[in-house]
Amino acid sequence: MYQDVLLHVGGQWRAAHGGRTMDVVNPATEEVIGKLAHASTADLDEAVGWAAKGFNTWRKISAFERGKLMRKAAELLRARLDTIATLMTMEQGKPLAEAKVELAASADVIDWFAEEGRRAYGRLIPARQPGVYQISLREPVGVVAGFTPWNFPVSQAVRKISAALAAGCSFILKGPEETPASCAELVRCYADAGIPAGVVQIVFGVPAEISEYLIPHPVVRKVSFTGSTAVGKHLAGLAGQHMKRVTMELGGHAPALVFDDADLDLAVKHLAAAKFRNAGQVCIAPTRFLVQEGVYGPFLAKFVAKCEAIKLGNGLEAGITMGPLANDRRVAAMEGFIADAVGRGAKLHTGGKRAGNKGYFFEPTVLTDIPPDARVMHEEPFGPLALVMPFQSYEQAIAEANRLEYGLAAYAFSRDAARVAALAADIEAGMVTINHLGLALPETPFGGVKDSGYGSEGGAEGLEPYLLTKFVSQTGA
Ligand code: NAD
Repeated sequence: MYQDVLLHVGGQWRAAHGGRTMDVVNPATEEVIGKLAHASTADLDEAVGWAAKGFNTWRKISAFERGKLMRKAAELLRARLDTIATLMTMEQGKPLAEAKVELAASADVIDWFAEEGRRAYGRLIPARQPGVYQISLREPVGVVAGFTPWNFPVSQAVRKISAALAAGCSFILKGPEETPASCAELVRCYADAGIPAGVVQIVFGVPAEISEYLIPHPVVRKVSFTGSTAVGKHLAGLAGQHMKRVTMELGGHAPALVFDDADLDLAVKHLAAAKFRNAGQVCIAPTRFLVQEGVYGPFLAKFVAKCEAIKLGNGLEAGITMGPLANDRRVAAMEGFIADAVGRGAKLHTGGKRAGNKGYFFEPTVLTDIPPDARVMHEEPFGPLALVMPFQSYEQAIAEANRLEYGLAAYAFSRDAARVAALAADIEAGMVTINHLGLALPETPFGGVKDSGYGSEGGAEGLEPYLLTKFVSQTGA
């Protein structure tokens, strides 16, 4: 059922000029399951030309009508959910149930932005003389170039595209080469809904070649990237040289603070779910589990038991709760982090190695006694690896939570209301969720601080990056 993936340029699905392709590999079997069209500069040129035309068409359509077409795309995504979920599991590895949740949530994102686009209000500013009207208008930024990764092939793309469309922008997406079909199917939903040619396009190829072409291009006015901090810094620098607006959703190394008075079973349940969802390849996944010394032992025992209950396997099979890692780079990264930490004295409680000899499966892993100089204490693991460490005082926990340059998500569990309020204020992160998992809804802000990036991809804040402000002062002639 997996078919070769094409580019979508100027309203057409087509192969790349020159016919270049790349292989798509199923991470559960290591088999090549399809081919992906690999864009050349001529393809990008065409896409940019069409994006300029698409912008001129789309910006003139009212927000009300744009919203209708977007809601139609959401309906199509829901109608095609089962088929697209299967493609996603085949190319990305996550269990089918997780793929379905991602797609259902993505349809909700489209609906939410379809509505929010109707509320891109301007202002009337009281003037100093009678008869003068001072108006602040919100206008679409223009053509957007977006770059999205392989961990959530649809939900990473849908936030950017939907916010841009709601604002009246056109969008060229460089989709994830390793997981292209589900992302291309998202674009097909927008196209089949009747959104005009050139408004939403998708290309694939060599990421650096595409970003170096699109970001400096004068037609492109805004850049939105999700991926690693290192690449994000490079692309933000390039965008800065060309005065392009930027949104950056980058890496994280989330702390999860569990206090002595926490509901321990609730904390273990939620934190294990958040850690091992998508095999830990989630920018907001908890990584450093800071557990107060009174409950450290029981937390560790319960958490390890949860890890050992995870059913690892091909995500298409019933009952599987964790699939393979998305590519062999992640397996090598996990092996490297664990060997380094254990070599420096860390203790391995469960997991720690590749599972089976086919597919990129890796066991859910828990380390304790990790020395501060271990690489994984500084770098994002982006895999099924939990670092559990005890703390004594509130101050100690906050110092460790804020130690790194990352500041994306943070988790905490405590029954003390005063402490809950203090945590929300003291943790340096773009998103904090306390006593439950409450992140990444369409209507709430999503974004980081410090090296985790800037800009927001959810809530009313999610529309802002795609709007510019024009001031008009007018009076009768
Ligand atoms: P990577 O840094 O090479 O790539 C990350 C993403 O950036 C990919 O989607 C890739 O296509 C894109 N990319 C890379 N170089 C680019 C360039 N010059 N121009 C435009 N796009 C470019 O690493 P990887 O091996 O694919 O992923 C591993 C790391 O990436 C992880 O450790 C994690 O930190 C990060 N990552 C983060 C997210 C996220 O949701 N924030 C998602 C995927 C990967």
